[in-house]
Amino acid sequence: MKALRLLAGAILALVASLQPGSAQSGKGGIERMYVLYCGDIALNDMGRFSPGFSGPGALSSTCYLIKHAQGLLLWDAGLPDAIASMPEGRKSNAGVWHVKRTLASQLAELGVKPADIRYLALSHSHGDHVGNVDLFPQATLLVQKAEYEWPDPLGVPRFKPDMKVVKAEGDHDVFGDGSVVLISTPGHSPGHQCLLVKLPKTGALLFSGDAVHTKVNWDNKRAPIQNFNHAQSIATLDRMAAVLKEHNAQLWIGHEPSEVPLRKYAPASYE
Ligand SMILES: [Zn+2]
Repeated sequence: MKALRLLAGAILALVASLQPGSAQSGKGGIERMYVLYCGDIALNDMGRFSPGFSGPGALSSTCYLIKHAQGLLLWDAGLPDAIASMPEGRKSNAGVWHVKRTLASQLAELGVKPADIRYLALSHSHGDHVGNVDLFPQATLLVQKAEYEWPDPLGVPRFKPDMKVVKAEGDHDVFGDGSVVLISTPGHSPGHQCLLVKLPKTGALLFSGDAVHTKVNWDNKRAPIQNFNHAQSIATLDRMAAVLKEHNAQLWIGHEPSEVPLRKYAPASYE
């Protein structure tokens, strides 16, 4: 009987190892990464985000889909898709949000169903980054504990309590192979994080989230005065510079409009 059980166990392990995306499928790592359009933000006063500026401005909004051998990871959930059906956009406290193409439609174009997303990693809990979280109720959230537990002014939980969640306390290697790592970068919000992604051909990228809104802020080491903690925001810029150097990584600033024409958007991809 014991030998039979051992044999059955060995067969089960073999079957599991043949399943695509299983933990047993070997190194695998990242297969490809897609850049997704996640909305446009028209600002009444650029100075709120970029010290030294005043008057109207614009920010882009970008999400990224990573296809790893162990599953799909979406970085940030953008402006809400519902805005796509509002011709005037939606007024926010800083300006107007517009969505020209929904996140759902871009995923569908790639043959990805929302239920296929294993991990939903969020830079932070502001509305322009969590707009479509409800599309992915089955996903596991990857957020910093400090962000998850940050009290909302209205007393509403920032994240749905019934969603599975990994509450990271500092940097977190998502797949255990160093290819996708949450980097703790507090300041803009208490538990803000960036994402370090190591692509086999493109190399290492650091997705900024809102640790940096614009290239001019990065070049001049500035942080918006409205950030949760300004001193921490500046210290975070040093941390990011160190991460970029250590991993020979490029900084990709998701809100920087001048980066939009530089990127290949889905269905094109980076390897
Ligand atoms: Zn933002």
